[in-house]
Amino acid sequence: MALISVQEAQAKIRRFVQVAESEKVPLSEVSGRVTANGIVATFPQPRFNNTAMDGFALRAADTMEASQNFPVRLALKGTISAGGTSDFEIGHGECCQIMTGAPMPAGADAVVKVEDTSGFETTENVEIFAVVEEGQNVRYSGEEISKGQILIEPGKRLGAGEIGVAATFGYDRVEVYGQPRVVLFATGDELIEPGISLGDAQIYNSNLYVFSELSDRVGAEVSEREVLKDSRESLKSFLKGVIGKSDLVVSSGGVSMGKHDYVRDVFLEIGVEEHFWRVAQKPGGPFFFGTGGGTLIFGLPGNPVSSFICFMEYVWPVCELMSGLKPAEKVTATLETSFPREPVKHRFLPGTIRVDDGRLKASPTEKLGSHMFSSSLVTNAILEAAPGKSFLEPGAPVSARLLPWCGLK
Ligand code: AMP
Ligand code: MG
Repeated sequence: MALISVQEAQAKIRRFVQVAESEKVPLSEVSGRVTANGIVATFPQPRFNNTAMDGFALRAADTMEASQNFPVRLALKGTISAGGTSDFEIGHGECCQIMTGAPMPAGADAVVKVEDTSGFETTENVEIFAVVEEGQNVRYSGEEISKGQILIEPGKRLGAGEIGVAATFGYDRVEVYGQPRVVLFATGDELIEPGISLGDAQIYNSNLYVFSELSDRVGAEVSEREVLKDSRESLKSFLKGVIGKSDLVVSSGGVSMGKHDYVRDVFLEIGVEEHFWRVAQKPGGPFFFGTGGGTLIFGLPGNPVSSFICFMEYVWPVCELMSGLKPAEKVTATLETSFPREPVKHRFLPGTIRVDDGRLKASPTEKLGSHMFSSSLVTNAILEAAPGKSFLEPGAPVSARLLPWCGLK
């Protein structure tokens, strides 16, 4: 099968992406999920005029002459606590005690804070030591949000702000998109799990830990995760059990030109339809994409940097789209050091983006090898450049995917 470009590969994949069905989920469980419907204000906010301070509700006009030395005296009519109501009206020369959040009584148009009065111990004539303006310390109905206003648009990931606003308006459940279900597997006779002593020529399986972490971060659910030997039989029996039962299958390793790279063969043998196998990119060129039984199947290469970049560039945006999100946009930054382009391949490289005088500056990692995963400890982006004959020189613009969990340097 012919080598295809990164853009063609992305377009081919997008054709098979469907947004997951939505479901109603209790508010306490929606963290990180994506809204399928807009969340609308069911009432104005604040819902009723109330006080922003502990103090006395009164008519502002009555305080015009008040001062520290010559307080105004007002007749006390009662108390309104937060959650309480009043059956009295505040007339000229009158006031009432009122606690933060309590509804304003009829007739009053301002609140003087308790510190500017003779205090809550006063039982009859309350002394007011300060002038207050009409509306002072009053939170008016609808001043923040009006009834019917769309608070949260569909396609928004729910975090503390959104969850708090949904609770403020009484939503106990939220309609959110389903989470993509992902099956992960790695293949390699050399792989063992962290925690077990290494034998000669063995290495630890790190890729599945990375894939699991990325799946969680993007909001997908890992339903199965397995490390398999480079054997046609074990690959076949595993894959027969998972294709068609999840939205995505993502594998690491065994998909290149090696003698024991059986992943593609087995995919084809069990009836997976191949859409492409090799992409004109470095790293991560040997990269399989197919579909079967409604499952999108990604065979990613085993080198840790290659599989990480392929996951971020291809699998991550698919998970975003399936969860109802718009895929994150890339940024353009100015190179600080040169970027090694490839003559016929799209070049991805881990890199660092920092803000300098309000502008984004980029430098690729010096650890260029696709096996050098420790580059991820200091980088916060994936930089990329289309094929080209020479290096991109410092000062040139470069496109970058910011890694959302890293932040800017
Ligand atoms: P492969 O794509 O199977 O040819 O593997 C390419 C390189 O990636 C080899 O050096 C493998 O040992 C390494 N590799 C494969 N799978 C993993 C994994 N799960 N974790 C870490 N390294 C891996
Ligand atoms: Mg291998």
